[in-house]
Amino acid sequence: MLIIGIGVTEVLLSTLVFTCETCGNNAAHQLTKQNRKFSLFFIPLFSVGTKYLDSCTACGRIIEVSKVQAEAAARQVGPDLR
Ligand SMILES: [Zn+2]
Repeated sequence: MLIIGIGVTEVLLSTLVFTCETCGNNAAHQLTKQNRKFSLFFIPLFSVGTKYLDSCTACGRIIEVSKVQAEAAARQVGPDLR
């Protein structure tokens, strides 16, 4: 019997604070990268897609963002914000 599946790994890229357009709170938003991998017998074989998600910690709304947007946003959180 073959055991196949899709495994998802999630990596937190950065946490950004801005005003959420859904709830209006100046809340923290977590920028995460989701990697989907096709696996056989629980061994990840190849990537079947990468998604970048922005989730609001106040209301829980999640939107998908492009790789370019995600990388630009992650770069904004640099040493000058500390
Ligand atoms: Zn929100």
